[in-house]
Amino acid sequence: MGSGETSQVIAPIVVPRLADPASASVDERDEHLMLLEAVRHALDVEWTETLAASESAGDHDVLGYPSTVEYLKHRLRMAGSRAHRYVKNARAAGQFRATFAAWKHRQVSSDEAELLFRAAERTPDRYPEAETILLELVGDGVEATKRLLDYWRHDVDLPGVRLDVEDQLTRRRFDVTRKANGMVTGDFALPRTEGAALLASIDALMPPPADNDERTTSQRRADALGDLAWSFLEGSESPTVGGERPHINVHVDLDALEGVGGGLHETDEGAVFDVEAVRQLACDASVSRVIFGPGSEVLDVGRKTRVIPAPLRRAVVARDRHCVAPGCRRKPGWCDVHHIVSWADGGDTAIGNLVLLCRYHHTLVHLEKLDLAYALEGSQFQTAGVRPT
Ligand SMILES: [Zn+2]
Ligand SMILES: [Zn+2]
Repeated sequence: MGSGETSQVIAPIVVPRLADPASASVDERDEHLMLLEAVRHALDVEWTETLAASESAGDHDVLGYPSTVEYLKHRLRMAGSRAHRYVKNARAAGQFRATFAAWKHRQVSSDEAELLFRAAERTPDRYPEAETILLELVGDGVEATKRLLDYWRHDVDLPGVRLDVEDQLTRRRFDVTRKANGMVTGDFALPRTEGAALLASIDALMPPPADNDERTTSQRRADALGDLAWSFLEGSESPTVGGERPHINVHVDLDALEGVGGGLHETDEGAVFDVEAVRQLACDASVSRVIFGPGSEVLDVGRKTRVIPAPLRRAVVARDRHCVAPGCRRKPGWCDVHHIVSWADGGDTAIGNLVLLCRYHHTLVHLEKLDLAYALEGSQFQTAGVRPT
């Protein structure tokens, strides 16, 4: 290579096309996606083989780049993370030939091949002897491959696993910020055991979506995490802080709650809630009355009481059995009891004025994005003619 007089490019890659994907049949689209994936597979293999040759010949040097990664980043405007991955794969493909051959001949998918390469790099001295057997066992998809490689690694490299656990411990983090609009965002990394506990909890809190559920999987996962947080605050098991179970404290004028004042209200932690958000919380919360004197001195603090007493909640649960939003089957443990007419507006805390709503649908009702009267029409009970305002 390198004389420049002969061209090695054999043929252009032709991407097969479907005339109009939107009007094609299910079978046509399915077949076409399979075909495109096969093209991508061939492209991945071809790319990796060429890059491996480029890397070992030191092309980047000739072309004036300090490394192959830099070459990819600047010449092809590629993100650093992708460039690193490609170079790692190219090196592994050169080193672990049987795995590369299995990939090339489509015995393993590109994602499975990548997992095998990563496993090989971690224990390069143990991988070759296991390569043939591992390749025979792989091919059931990405999750099965991860599990298989995890077992194998525990078998051949327990010290490495221990080091990895140590490493996970040092790299654990949970960074959260509350943005100016109150939304909480974050970024986290959990060690494997805590990660597994989190995933199992989230999984348990994510029932299959109803047919008319428009939430994305990610949104439903976020709702599950919210439920997890609420269940901790409400659970009798939660440890006490200063003699009290942890909770959200919102201070609000009764006037505002009754729709006279409006205005904004702040939690002890500094999150700001508008009056409708407070009314939503107040549907199913504990309330205590604090009376202030003219000089803002506290005159009297009433006992904290549940808005919905336990026996009444049980009655609502027995009647509704799950969230009453159409199609939603969220179980009572993950639901609020909603006042159809807010107690602050004189609505009774009586069964005819109460319905069970999961937190997501409860929020929608208070945002007036879900018409409860309409929602209740289709359900198995009538709420004595009470309609939301
Ligand atoms: Zn409510
Ligand atoms: Zn619901």
